[in-house]
Amino acid sequence: MRRALSSSLAVAVVLLLALLSAQTRTSKTLDIYVVDVEGGNATLFVAPSGESVLIDTGNGGAAGPRDPERIMAAVKDAGLTQIDHLITTHWHGDHFGGTEELAKRIPIRHYIDHGPTVEPQPASTAFLQNVYPTLFGAAKHTVAKPGDKIPITGLDWRIVTSGGQAIKSPLAGAGAPNKYCAAYTPKQPDPSENAQSVGSIITFGKFRVAHLGDLTWNKEFDLMCPNNRVGTVDLFIVSHHGQAISNSEVLVHAIKSRVAILNNGTRKGGQPEFMKIIYSAPGLEDLWQVHFSQLSGQEYTVPGMFISNPVDDQPAAMPVAAMPAPSGPGAAPPPAHNGRAYWIKVSANADGSFSVTNTRNGFSKTYSAGR
Ligand SMILES: [Zn+2]
Repeated sequence: MRRALSSSLAVAVVLLLALLSAQTRTSKTLDIYVVDVEGGNATLFVAPSGESVLIDTGNGGAAGPRDPERIMAAVKDAGLTQIDHLITTHWHGDHFGGTEELAKRIPIRHYIDHGPTVEPQPASTAFLQNVYPTLFGAAKHTVAKPGDKIPITGLDWRIVTSGGQAIKSPLAGAGAPNKYCAAYTPKQPDPSENAQSVGSIITFGKFRVAHLGDLTWNKEFDLMCPNNRVGTVDLFIVSHHGQAISNSEVLVHAIKSRVAILNNGTRKGGQPEFMKIIYSAPGLEDLWQVHFSQLSGQEYTVPGMFISNPVDDQPAAMPVAAMPAPSGPGAAPPPAHNGRAYWIKVSANADGSFSVTNTRNGFSKTYSAGR
């Protein structure tokens, strides 16, 4: 009897030690890095279990390995040795461009996308024919459908849009009528890859995030009307770099995000029409940006402490007036930023509280649970 007791005690001690060592290897937070890829997208999620999801890889081509190197800096900060899942929202160069170079730098275990491109361009066609099959052939490949769940310990990761389709039934706790649908007016149909974007709603305890890639205006209506099938979120990674052909009120006002983060470029996104919609969003406490945008001017931009990146040739002051987007071959290029880049980092707790940090200036703000 004594012998049986002591051996079960030994088992209990071993189990306790195993539990303690498992806990020291994991974190309690969901960490999100919004990497500056100059008006593209690369958002890295690291679950408390250490599992990782990267949404998009920024630019390639003429930008060289700049964006994959910036992603790798975040990967190293997070202590990752592999990317467990790479979601490519759609086949535009500012979203898939860095994939080949990134895959040379770190193993990518699972490739997720919406299927073939609907808008063939030389760069995407070359990538999809000559590079991508080799990459996912050595890993796993999934063509995402609305309603799919990506298995990540501790997170509920739901695909809500893909390939131009949206979920038909609401996520848990969602599905109430969306009052913003009444005033909605559609825009021109969007036949581009943007409308195909793989969109995700990520839930960690009481904390929720929306990342819909470059999903455009009319597709937001399909997802959000007449009933809001997504529900509310704490964090909105703003769609389409803050361009006004996305980010309708039926989405932006109905999800009631507390914080929005804008992955804009120095002259991409952030124009007045968009800024008016985001600033008037019910429940929004702060907008953070990876760049200022000339399209905002002082009139519409957020305070500099919420902006994580300068430009290489930083002007002494920014004009007050928003700049109309220049067009035509004579337009001067937007201010370049190829120097050191700073991500915006979010650390979220299961109780719904979270903090956002601007790694350029160290400014950090905590958003308490239970608003
Ligand atoms: Zn884009």
